[in-house]
Amino acid sequence: MTGRERVLRAIHGLPTDRPVAAPYMGNYGIRTAGSSLSACYLDSTSMAQAQLKAWEIFGQDVIVVQSDNYYMAEAFGAPVEHAPDSMPVLLDAVVKTSEDVYKLEPVDPRRDGRMPVYIEAVARICDKVGDQVAIRGCGTGPFVLAGHLCGIERLLLWLVETDSGMEDHAKELHHIFTIGLETLVQYATAQLESGATIIQLADSLASLAVISPAMYRSYVFPYEQAFFTRMKPICAKYQAAALLHICGDNTTVFEDYALTGADIIAIDHGARLSDAVRIIANRACIIGNMNPSGALLYGTPEEVQNEATLCLKTAAGFRYLLGTGCEVAVGTPVENMRAMLASVRNLGQGGGR
Ligand SMILES: [Zn+2]
Repeated sequence: MTGRERVLRAIHGLPTDRPVAAPYMGNYGIRTAGSSLSACYLDSTSMAQAQLKAWEIFGQDVIVVQSDNYYMAEAFGAPVEHAPDSMPVLLDAVVKTSEDVYKLEPVDPRRDGRMPVYIEAVARICDKVGDQVAIRGCGTGPFVLAGHLCGIERLLLWLVETDSGMEDHAKELHHIFTIGLETLVQYATAQLESGATIIQLADSLASLAVISPAMYRSYVFPYEQAFFTRMKPICAKYQAAALLHICGDNTTVFEDYALTGADIIAIDHGARLSDAVRIIANRACIIGNMNPSGALLYGTPEEVQNEATLCLKTAAGFRYLLGTGCEVAVGTPVENMRAMLASVRNLGQGGGR
């Protein structure tokens, strides 16, 4: 069974030769391959080479094509600084007034900002190993993209003012979230056409550490649900799946996550995996939730294996991919990452990589 087959079967709850291990390792893959972050998020060839090299080292079931956050915002003209081997820095908002929202022009994911870097990197990796391993692309959720374009403070201010009835920004908010939704549908579709097995909506700013459950339901959920509804037939056409990733402990809205229609729901380490499997109850596949800043970063290989084994036991019988709660920290010892991957291989029945 190839990694790609194993991942697709596990997502749909079909039997596999062993559990899937899919750490979220974009920048970690780049650095472990000895590459520069900026070289990779600016150039698809470098990104593909680095992630392929990391895959040769670890042999994980999913190659993650991901590094920074602003590849979509830049398409709308957001000024971003790219320093050598550092994460990009967002310098300013492009939306500063209500009127500015309506000046945003539609963008083309195959042409604008750095969206093409990731689309082309997916295609390059797919050309080489697409039949062997699943490929996970990237995608910024409508709420996070609005934060990048308006500035997070302005977005949250508009949200609070609208929600409390102080001042009504509902139309602007709807407009900017719709732009984000439409862009992400096109971007995810382009990644599927290039060979992605998993496309994603990452809406980290929609964490309950930032907004209330009621705000999530009113201002974020409708656009996320629209995304997954629209992607469902497109994913089916390409034998692919759509993933929802929101950081933090969001247990209160796990029921809502199940209703988004996402095929895969990422659970961060702040939440309990037992709650996630109980509430989501096989309506979606779950990925998570090893702590990227716990045993993986600071512990021993034995501690990593113990944590992985506990996750696998907790999720046994459910649609599940062993993963990290959020991105693997750069600096995680290679032997600890190998221990995470060994924990699933030890459960295999003599087959598969
Ligand atoms: Zn996260």
